[in-house]
Amino acid sequence: MTAPSFGPVHRAGDCHLARRRRCEHGVRQGCGRTHLDADPLVGQPLCADCYDYPGHVLWNAMAPALWKAFRDNLYHHLAARAGVGRSEVRTLVRVSAAKVAEYQKRGAVHFHAIVRLDGPDGPTTPPPTWATGDRLSEAVRSAAAAVALPCPESAAYSGGPLGFGGQLDVHPLVYGGGERIPDDAVAAYVAKYTSKSVEAAGAVDRRIESLAEIQALQVSPHVRALIATAWRLGGLPELRHLRLRTWAHMLGYRGHCLTKTRAYSTTYGQLRTARAEHARGLYTDWDDAAVAERAWRFVGTGHTPAEALIAAGVAEDLATNREVARAERMEEGP
Ligand SMILES: [Zn+2]
Ligand SMILES: [Zn+2]
Repeated sequence: MTAPSFGPVHRAGDCHLARRRRCEHGVRQGCGRTHLDADPLVGQPLCADCYDYPGHVLWNAMAPALWKAFRDNLYHHLAARAGVGRSEVRTLVRVSAAKVAEYQKRGAVHFHAIVRLDGPDGPTTPPPTWATGDRLSEAVRSAAAAVALPCPESAAYSGGPLGFGGQLDVHPLVYGGGERIPDDAVAAYVAKYTSKSVEAAGAVDRRIESLAEIQALQVSPHVRALIATAWRLGGLPELRHLRLRTWAHMLGYRGHCLTKTRAYSTTYGQLRTARAEHARGLYTDWDDAAVAERAWRFVGTGHTPAEALIAAGVAEDLATNREVARAERMEEGP
């Protein structure tokens, strides 16, 4: 499950799909080149002025709540598909899930999740016969599409409801014979998919203490803008509950990278081991804890201090624009 678009970014492969279109700043919406996956340009905005930095940071900050909304929806959507009541469904089936949060190259969190239906008492009881893999797949799609949480209210920014983007892959995890896949195999599956983007994210692995520190970070202008936006939004009293300054280095996301429902019998230990084993082939100097908890580490690209300052001012500019607009409205009267 991914975030929606916050603005056009360079894409891996052909980056010229919308090349003829230009934004209001005169920037083409594709660069015309073909990017390899490893190209540091992939995920960088085509126009930083157009990019919705506050929306991006707030989405990351709300990602745990979006996931929770998805899980609640999932019960409701299963109930609707099975023709049982919303309260009844929780007495018939239990949704068990393990998920891993990772960062796409653009710095938005996305989730890899394993979702399983158990009987009402968890994995020791079989799910009802109507709780089929197909029904679960359908319910996952519609439950994710239905997530819409209000954007946190702020004088500096007003965005529409927050939900998941259209990019959602659902695959059934069953052996040919239909028997249940062992938990360590599930852990290995998660590890395989999550370590794909291990080096693709873009942030730093320690807390940020000051705005000045942000300007000195060895990160891309895009990541710097995200961190600075989180820092600035974090200074707004109405957004204090999101603790954006504490989590600025995580680009606003304050959830855990690995979470699971209690009934999910794959343990953190199994996931950690599987991920560590998978990553070890690539990153020999990483210890297991670092792989599991901070699997996304960014090695920066070049930039100029001026770019950083422009990027860092994005949220402030938005706040100023809104204040000006509000003052104008006040002058005009009702
Ligand atoms: Zn490009
Ligand atoms: Zn633009």
